[in-house]
Amino acid sequence: LVVIDHVNKHFGELHVLKDITTTVGRGEVVVVIGPSGSGKSTFCRAINRLETIDSGTITIDGVPLPEEGRGLARLRADVGMVFQSFNLFAHKTVLENVTLGPRKVRQISKADADKHAMELLDRVGVANQASKMPSQLSGGQQQRVAIARVLAMDPKLILLDEPTSALDPEMISEVLDVMVQLAQDGMTMVVVTHEMGFARKAADRVLFMADGEIVEEATPEKFFTDPQSPRAKDFLSKIL
Ligand code: ATP
Ligand code: MG
Repeated sequence: LVVIDHVNKHFGELHVLKDITTTVGRGEVVVVIGPSGSGKSTFCRAINRLETIDSGTITIDGVPLPEEGRGLARLRADVGMVFQSFNLFAHKTVLENVTLGPRKVRQISKADADKHAMELLDRVGVANQASKMPSQLSGGQQQRVAIARVLAMDPKLILLDEPTSALDPEMISEVLDVMVQLAQDGMTMVVVTHEMGFARKAADRVLFMADGEIVEEATPEKFFTDPQSPRAKDFLSKIL
């Protein structure tokens, strides 16, 4: 589905993505882990072109990422992104947050968009919050609305960048449960997370980044029990 080929990215002097080459297959769940500043967020953001790249190519379904204009709007619909900070529209209800994108970009009628949104809110367990404003919801509920909003666009792929890092501990599992369910339903996902339990349970592949490079790529079983590189061993010894 996604082919990332020899991608490089600099921020000024800083080489943040170093010759990144990997793929994400349809239905695959790739968990990206690595130390702070290793380029995980930049990697994700490059896939839906929130960041430009300096060299290399990224294609989705064989099509290079569009540069601008309408192609870019379509890309953002096809490649959903969930951030650490839920980023809901503060002045719209929960339901409106979920229906806005489909109505604008996918040009779906209000009745159809509402109906589909309610199904999605139900799927993430917050249907009873539909008429509330985001600020009236807990962090875990808001993040689940953010996931429903992405799903409403019927994306080919969802990028989640530390979706549970801003949550109080007791709310993390309710969001992870939704993510595990999505993974089991066959959604293609790239997930940056420190939740190793999620990685073990849901990942098809772990991608370990350090210092702008993909240092190691393996199944979770292999990566957690038998990491190959010194940097991965060091990282795991600190977090496990
Ligand atoms: P974290 O775990 O802290 O979220 P990360 O692995 O997601 O880290 P990135 O956010 O991708 O790392 O950042 C990689 C490097 O690029 C860091 O050194 C960061 O300071 C730098 N960087 C990120 N965004 C910018 C920017 N817009 N301008 C300049 N430097 C940036
Ligand atoms: Mg980050």
